[in-house]
Amino acid sequence: MHSMFADEDVAESELVTRRGKFRAVAFAHGGHEHMALVHGGPPLRDDVLVRVHSECMTGDIFGAMRCECGEQLGAALDTIVGEGSGILVYLRGQEGRGIGLVAKVRTHVLQDEQGLDTVDSATSLGLPVDVRDYTPAARILTHLGVRSVRLMSNNPDKIASLEAHGIEVTARVPLLMPPNDNNIAYLRAKRDRLGHDLPQLDQVAVRERHG
Ligand SMILES: [Zn+2]
Repeated sequence: MHSMFADEDVAESELVTRRGKFRAVAFAHGGHEHMALVHGGPPLRDDVLVRVHSECMTGDIFGAMRCECGEQLGAALDTIVGEGSGILVYLRGQEGRGIGLVAKVRTHVLQDEQGLDTVDSATSLGLPVDVRDYTPAARILTHLGVRSVRLMSNNPDKIASLEAHGIEVTARVPLLMPPNDNNIAYLRAKRDRLGHDLPQLDQVAVRERHG
């Protein structure tokens, strides 16, 4: 297998977390640093349970409830540990679907003050809706020896992008978080305007109609 990264751009150690023991592999690529948390194995090669998670400081670190990122991160790690093996690829430089942290917070202002959704708040600032690049995720998985994955995601675009970069997606594993009052509009916009598969939202609509 060809190495996808130069030696000086990769380092790895064991990482014991509250959830369990992982192999933490750090990568430098294109001006950003990413990390893969590998649990179980070796070798993880085919049909590997994988989450490719885009950094969201507000959700992942601070537990913000305006998106479901933090909950998805925790649920993905729990699922990997529960199954006994899998990989979480944590991609940095992807705040706000790639627009950056300052711009993301600007979109929050428009969402809160003008009621714009996650899509219109970006476009009204002249920003793209989604410029995330999954090339580093595919390279990281290839570097780790992975050929095919069961991808924990609700985003069909992510599957297409990984496959375009040589990682076969043999199954999509839904990662559905129950909505709350703070993120229901955001989740509906992701479903209706960005094509994410979020069937758990239908349950809320039913409850509201009957409630
Ligand atoms: Zn988020």
